[in-house]
Amino acid sequence: MTATSPIERVVLTHVQVPLKQPLRTSEGEFTVKDAILVTLETASEVAAGESSPLAGDLGVTAGTPEQCWKLLSEAIAPSLLGFSFSTTEEIGAIASGWPGGGPAAAGAETALWDLLGQSHRVTVAQLLGAIDEQIRLGVQSGLGLGSFPSIVELLRSIETHLVEGFRRVRIRISPGSDVEVVRAVRQHFGDIPLMVDANGAYSSRDIDVLRALDEFDLLMIEQPMKPGDIEGMIALQGQISTPICIDESAGTMEQTTEAIRLGACRIVNLKIQRVGGLGPARAIHDLCFQHGIACWVGSTPELGLGQSFGLHLATLANCKYPTGVQPSARWFVDDCIAPALELSSPGLFSIPQRPGVGYQVDQQKLRRYQVRQAEFTSRTTG
Ligand SMILES: [Mg+2]
Repeated sequence: MTATSPIERVVLTHVQVPLKQPLRTSEGEFTVKDAILVTLETASEVAAGESSPLAGDLGVTAGTPEQCWKLLSEAIAPSLLGFSFSTTEEIGAIASGWPGGGPAAAGAETALWDLLGQSHRVTVAQLLGAIDEQIRLGVQSGLGLGSFPSIVELLRSIETHLVEGFRRVRIRISPGSDVEVVRAVRQHFGDIPLMVDANGAYSSRDIDVLRALDEFDLLMIEQPMKPGDIEGMIALQGQISTPICIDESAGTMEQTTEAIRLGACRIVNLKIQRVGGLGPARAIHDLCFQHGIACWVGSTPELGLGQSFGLHLATLANCKYPTGVQPSARWFVDDCIAPALELSSPGLFSIPQRPGVGYQVDQQKLRRYQVRQAEFTSRTTG
């Protein structure tokens, strides 16, 4: 394989895009989406990735916008100048030298995948090793909902969005707002594919409550207990037939290996931003496949650029549930990419055939939402 042209210029742009509605998570309320777009330029290509600090991450990832900016500007961006490479293994090798991991690494790492794809004239999905048929089929999108002040408002929101054709519904539960909520959704919407995300809000003392959810035929219960409470999830999984899905507990290959070995889950939520890029995410995907554990690709949510890498990842064969990737317009008043991230038919994304990730940064929009920018050039490195 031929090598890419050397990277001559790296631009970091911190943007804040307003959210359509405040995003309520277990960690607070967010009104804007922070992201740092990483743009790489060679003599012949412009590639981009998104570093997207996670909203409501239970403090698992060292990834505030400020921390990501510092890691990217002080260590990661300078290391990319002059870099030329021809395989995804070389991306893994350079990324392994970056401090911090998480969303800071993910921004630069995914940009390198985009660059390699463009250079080799293949899509990121093809670089990942997805089979053509899966890429052609596209990726099913699932509706993800934050917390609501009342059951009525939750039901109204589901009703509003279901017409867009989403292939499953994911609602948040927390102690005191669980069995009744699930029952109400089942009563109103019948047997729609439904799952719940607890964001680690329960403990071993709550097993009876969680067992009561078993009768609702849920696709999965996501992260019922705190990331470190593997014992609690083993005990719970032993008493329910609904699969447990780990999210925050799947922060690294080691953590995921341990959770699977101990029988704490049957499903894993893959998040590119949490694990530091596509390479680590694919490695966890492959580990899960070897152990008969299904995956699906979650979203933080990122802006469209970050989410579009998730779409490519979601074409891998062991991603067996609809993705958490949703159209840009679902969350944001606007986006920074062209074309916009949109469903191609109800509840379905098609994978762009264009080389690389298949989306470009819209410079005009970037300026509109820019908070700060930093540029690195190879003049000093020759
Ligand atoms: Mg989750």
